[in-house]
Amino acid sequence: MLQDIHPHNLDIAYSADYHPDETSIIMHYKNGKVLACTDNEHPFLFYSQIEKPQKCVYLFSVDDTKYFLAEDEDVIAPGGYIYQDIKKLRHKEGMLKVNIMVMFTSYHLWSWYTNNKICGYCGGKTVTDYNERALFCKNCCRVIYPRINPAVIVGVINGDKLLVTRYAKNRGVSYDALVAGFTEIGETFEQTVAREVHEEVGLKVKNIRYYKSQPWGYSGGILAGFYCDLDESEEITIDKTELSCAEWRTRDEITGQPDDLSLTNEMMMNFKNNMK
Ligand SMILES: [Zn+2]
Repeated sequence: MLQDIHPHNLDIAYSADYHPDETSIIMHYKNGKVLACTDNEHPFLFYSQIEKPQKCVYLFSVDDTKYFLAEDEDVIAPGGYIYQDIKKLRHKEGMLKVNIMVMFTSYHLWSWYTNNKICGYCGGKTVTDYNERALFCKNCCRVIYPRINPAVIVGVINGDKLLVTRYAKNRGVSYDALVAGFTEIGETFEQTVAREVHEEVGLKVKNIRYYKSQPWGYSGGILAGFYCDLDESEEITIDKTELSCAEWRTRDEITGQPDDLSLTNEMMMNFKNNMK
């Protein structure tokens, strides 16, 4: 999965003591696109390569390398670096998994910093609090902490078959998926599973059991994977605003996704390989 970057280690713990040096890497985003070059091993900017940004906030470390977010609106970078769509970079041939993890995680943090430049309570301007991972409203003194959106991925099992879906065409995802959705306020994960399955495919489920989780910075989320068993009728009624199709597949009929990054793919392949 995306986060399985062994032998590398991503350390997300914030520290106010870190400042960029020549070996640090600087992440910069504009309109949701990341500044990167074509080098698969080192696609992002070294601090030594750029005209020094005025403001940088520490993001995380991968092994001994520290990553920072340049908070300036513009960064002057050498030739060959352009702003690139992170979804396209995810699928670029040869792109290292560790760099995709770096890109998604820094994108999540960039989105949060960017979307909270104005205090949602009083409309005042916020500033980066460099003592902790937080933003501070100078007007009403409110402290804003990072937001992570919880969501579930659901493998619905019907004997030796698994429910596989395809998103509606306007969702821009053309490969197999599982029932999925965000948790509503006031809901447990198990309730999200039952609700999403009922909403998307009109089925009832039982024996809801946790499998694994996955940080998914592209949607600012944390995904919790669950398997469950079909309860009562196996007749599928799809929500056409969410899905283009949903069907029961035997293990032999499951093909998975084009890469091994997602929890969804692992859950499909786990069922296919009869591991559970
Ligand atoms: Zn405020």
